[in-house]
Amino acid sequence: MSRIAYVNGQYVRHGDAAVHVEDRGYQFADGVYEVCEVWQGNIVDMPRHLDRLNRSLTELRIDWPMSRAAVEFVLRQVIRRNRVRNGLVYIQVTRGVSRRDHYFPPEDVAPSIVVTARSSNPDAARAQAEQGIAVVSYPENRWPRVDIKTIALLPNVLAKQHAKEQGGKEAWYVDSNGYVTEGGSTNAWIVTKDGAVVTRAAESGILRGITRTVVLELIEKEGLTFEERPFSLEEALEAKEAFVTAASTVVMPVTRVDGRIIGNGHPGTVATRLRELFRTATDLQAV
Ligand code: PLP
Repeated sequence: MSRIAYVNGQYVRHGDAAVHVEDRGYQFADGVYEVCEVWQGNIVDMPRHLDRLNRSLTELRIDWPMSRAAVEFVLRQVIRRNRVRNGLVYIQVTRGVSRRDHYFPPEDVAPSIVVTARSSNPDAARAQAEQGIAVVSYPENRWPRVDIKTIALLPNVLAKQHAKEQGGKEAWYVDSNGYVTEGGSTNAWIVTKDGAVVTRAAESGILRGITRTVVLELIEKEGLTFEERPFSLEEALEAKEAFVTAASTVVMPVTRVDGRIIGNGHPGTVATRLRELFRTATDLQAV
């Protein structure tokens, strides 16, 4: 079965899917995106992802390419046409196609929209979660508006590639004060020796992850001790547990940071429990 992508009003073969050379996403990274998990034939937390898409678009003064209901319809169509039961659906909106010029294009230029979906292997994800991942620290070098989910991901690409070359799966950005901000494509968490779950507040330095929000609700429901504050790389190295969250990885235990073993070197009990409970806390909408 060939894969299908949605590009500006048309469902096309994935291999033929293309945008114009003067699409502002292509030339200026002038666009935003969202990634939703597809789990057992359901879209996970779609309303929250579309709320955040709305926020990103508003911050950059890009119009919706079509109504929110139409976007939901297309997401479902692309998932169905690619027969994805477990995987990810990706949506990207850019400021559209126009003669290359830094200024915003004329009012009549419509935003561009691309939607793709792909399957993932739940068994592989489970195996990874049972083992845990290694993360590698990297100096924070992104612009201050990381609260907007823009497609300008070059710093994230470089950080994650660095992590990979050091044998890690994820990079943890560390700011000039020595505090971990977040991962290259995940939010960062630790569990202290006293059992407090700690993650940085979303007010600055991080993207307010949807998975992060759901996990915060879970933590409250479970009555766990929680601190929303910055934590340093040193504190992370001494922590009982560490983990990362994102739609693409859900809750993923971290067992090594910069080559140093965290806790007993195995996925922690808190991270494992939050991963198990995660589905009970999400909004699931049938595809
Ligand atoms: N932080 C960054 C930089 C990300 O790119 C992502 C996801 O792509 C996240 C955090 C996690 O966000 P979410 O849980 O909404 O997937």
